Amino acid sequence: MSGLSNNPLYEGKSKNVFPGPKADELIIRYKNTATAFNGAKKEELEGKGKLNAAISGFIFRYLAKNGINTHLLRDLDETSVLVKKAEIIMVEVIVRNLAAGGFSKKYGIPEGTVLNNTVVEFCLKSDSLDDPMINQSQITAIALATQEELDEMIRQALRINELLTALFMDAGIRLIDFKLEFGRLHNNGDTEVILCDEISPDSCRLWDLDTHNKMDKDRFRRDMGGVLEGYREVLGRLKNVKQI
Ligand code: 5GP
Repeated sequence: MSGLSNNPLYEGKSKNVFPGPKADELIIRYKNTATAFNGAKKEELEGKGKLNAAISGFIFRYLAKNGINTHLLRDLDETSVLVKKAEIIMVEVIVRNLAAGGFSKKYGIPEGTVLNNTVVEFCLKSDSLDDPMINQSQITAIALATQEELDEMIRQALRINELLTALFMDAGIRLIDFKLEFGRLHNNGDTEVILCDEISPDSCRLWDLDTHNKMDKDRFRRDMGGVLEGYREVLGRLKNVKQI
């Protein structure tokens, strides 16, 4: 986009972060790069950046309308968004409704098994350590977050799960699992925990309600083909949902 510095503050696997027009703002630009297995598998998929920017923007606006505080300020263009600058909490929050992926592999539970209760897991956000799972006492022990912050992240994650499960259900999609990131927003001595990063088929597992067809990054991870078609289908269906 015009006026955007060429030098990112931070270069991520699927997004770059640039300084914003104000000191307390950042610009996030979605890339076309698809990566999996901590960057070991990588491919350029023309149009993926636009699709994820549109899907994540749609979801963040829906969540904001429903009482979730997020970093999103506004879209700048088809791949760039203006966000509030937050101090990212270096813990990923994973929410699971059905067994899949890492959970199925680790515990030997077939993919698609309905779980008796919603699972909330934490991973350390660290590429060099391959995002290892971490528990609450470990998180507080090494000061990644306080117990109050963890309680708030869990509360918001479960509310987001309710809201997204309903949204995707209306789109004929089952929300299997997803990953969230939160940040601290410092405000005149007060600190608020807000939703950051993105929510897109890169960070969720989304299956067609009837056929169980995958519409998310597992298509890329598992060499199934039709990655962008899946993402496009998710966006198209979300746009047709009336409830928001
Ligand atoms: P799993 O632990 O089964 O690999 O992942 C659970 C869910 O969280 C999946 O929807 C997956 O896409 C998402 N997820 C886990 N780790 C990451 C990550 O480092 N980046 C992204 N974008 N999503 C992740």
